[in-house]
Amino acid sequence: MSDVVFILGAGASKACGIPLMSEFLQVSYDLLKDNRVQDVSSEFEAVFDGIWSLESVYSRSSLDLDNIESVFNAFEVARMLDAIPGYSGHDVDKLIMSLKCLISRTIEKTLKMPMVSESGFVDPHHELAKVISEIQDRHRTTAVITFNYDPLVEHALSNLGLVPEYFLEPHKPPEDPLDLDETPVRDPLHVPVLKLHGSLTWGQCRGCGKIVPSTSWTIHNGTFTPPPWFQHKCGGMVEIPYIVPPTIYKTQYYAVLSSVWAQAAKVLSEAESVCIIGYSLPAIDTFFPYLFALSTIQIRMLRRIMFINPDEAAAERFKRLLGPRSERKFVRYGYPFEYKDTFSNIRYLLLPKEETKDLRL
Ligand SMILES: [Zn+2]
Repeated sequence: MSDVVFILGAGASKACGIPLMSEFLQVSYDLLKDNRVQDVSSEFEAVFDGIWSLESVYSRSSLDLDNIESVFNAFEVARMLDAIPGYSGHDVDKLIMSLKCLISRTIEKTLKMPMVSESGFVDPHHELAKVISEIQDRHRTTAVITFNYDPLVEHALSNLGLVPEYFLEPHKPPEDPLDLDETPVRDPLHVPVLKLHGSLTWGQCRGCGKIVPSTSWTIHNGTFTPPPWFQHKCGGMVEIPYIVPPTIYKTQYYAVLSSVWAQAAKVLSEAESVCIIGYSLPAIDTFFPYLFALSTIQIRMLRRIMFINPDEAAAERFKRLLGPRSERKFVRYGYPFEYKDTFSNIRYLLLPKEETKDLRL
């Protein structure tokens, strides 16, 4: 089980320069106009042409074509329905590849790892990794569920000697379920990092179809260098990145990401505390509300849900998802995530009792 589950949304990466979903395309467009993505400018232009083609059809509908997730969804649905005028199925496949390139390159160009400044500005992932390390040192377990494509949380965990586990392969159950000795004991250094929407550092093997994490990416001097394509042990080439849109139309992704989603459901169903940082429950995400609601439906041990987000409307949406029984366990913190106070509060709430033992003289 995981005593504490952290859920990270786009707001957690905002402090490291990565734009929110609603401003992402504008930032991509500015990078193109400023000639900062010259080697992939044709991919960027293809995406904006695709959006303008969609606009001609859907201008009166409620599609939010300024939002990158909404556009990602629209392209994916268009692939199924053959619904962009002038685009064949093959053209839409190429369009989606261009979009993934735009997402990857925009994150690469905007990601900056902030150092601690006099104003207390810190990388929230580093503070989070410290809290996780402290919790696991006390023989309690943690897990991270993230919607973010960037590898910031695994980078921060690795820097502290922790080992992120992606659960891309289903974990084998003990051979004899009645043999208690075979119950797997979690290594105190291992932390499940469950990336529900894939990752810029994962790829899909063109040979066997498996999702394979790369180990050759770096974040050095605050700059992220994504991995190149590489060869899987089966001989197939691994195509980087592997990222998925936030809709419920995930059937084509199910076969390869089901073990990640199953593990996310498992850690949520066993959690004592859930801490949600910078996730706004966007209307477009029609999948996560089901995952959360179904995983926590019979949860008895859940003591608290901490919701860290300056957006009050996001907190209201989350409360509605919880229903009346869990609502009283809900606490919202409106502090901006980049300030140390947020993590001092998390630390105080999650590690209060152990500290007092040392005060007895
Ligand atoms: Zn392979």
